[in-house]
Amino acid sequence: MAQKAQTKGEEQVLAYDLGGTKVAVGVVNSKGKILAEIREPVVIDQGKKAVLEQLGKLGRQFINKYPKIKSVGMASAGPLDPYKGILLDPTNFASKEGTWGIVPLASILSKKLKRPVTLENDAAAAMLAEHWLGAAKKFNNAMILTLGTGLGTGIISNGELVRAGQHMHPEAGHIIINYGDRTAPCGCGNFGCAEAYLSGRSFTRRARQRFANPQLTGKDIADLARKRDPRALAAFEEYAEQMAATLNNYVVLYAPEVIVFTGSFADAADLFLKNTQRHLEKLLERRRAGIDMMPKLMVSTLNNNAGLIGGAYVALQKGVRGGQVLKSKSKKKA
Ligand SMILES: [Zn+2]
Repeated sequence: MAQKAQTKGEEQVLAYDLGGTKVAVGVVNSKGKILAEIREPVVIDQGKKAVLEQLGKLGRQFINKYPKIKSVGMASAGPLDPYKGILLDPTNFASKEGTWGIVPLASILSKKLKRPVTLENDAAAAMLAEHWLGAAKKFNNAMILTLGTGLGTGIISNGELVRAGQHMHPEAGHIIINYGDRTAPCGCGNFGCAEAYLSGRSFTRRARQRFANPQLTGKDIADLARKRDPRALAAFEEYAEQMAATLNNYVVLYAPEVIVFTGSFADAADLFLKNTQRHLEKLLERRRAGIDMMPKLMVSTLNNNAGLIGGAYVALQKGVRGGQVLKSKSKKKA
């Protein structure tokens, strides 16, 4: 009976995880359990209007089946302004008709679904999910690295999500670790960003140069490393060094107690985490007395669902968390 009452009181929300290639939509309960889920390619090539239609259609399907849904959370690739619920010309959303410009995504979707919609940066959402239910659950200072096409980062400091100024998200994947390195072009147009070495895509691009075969995928190279192929092992050794150097920079800035790896390339963590740990311990050698700055390095336990669960988290919160905006004397119009 008590069980039944609890189920009745359970809240259900609709969550989205929108990327440049795929979108996941799901119904999630207040405990973070995914009750139903669908993943499909985003119709990016058909332009902005078609994608918005797609999002509305997917959402309506679930709302018809789960009428208890009262609110919606959307984790999306950025840049975006979570407080205003707008996309700011997102880098990965472009088609023949051009880039998207500024899109008031939360209000557009809210009209389509007749529910309030909260928008959040996808890496921030993944961080919130890890802090809520995942590997960062027991830590008030944590960082997440999503290793996929890019290098996404999210930070929780003293229990609060860290925002950059002007409602922006800290794009820590674009710190430059090797200025002017022409071998490391980054999606942002610069050279030598952390992302240009550490995203799954960057790893594959760089590692391929060690082989005569330009068709090799990241997974192929990981499989070769597991068979002790020396070229593949050398590629992962280089990767671990660059990862440790980057993490050192993050540790001195944010002092996370745990760093969680997620994204498709985190599947190769068995090939780089040990060496990353070894190099990072060396780099932080003088920062371990008093407060031990060496963070735990962990792989996400939420599989591929951190973005979706984070979307649900912001829907349940009914608002944007972190980076409290206080009234300032600035004359600049908000
Ligand atoms: Zn960059």
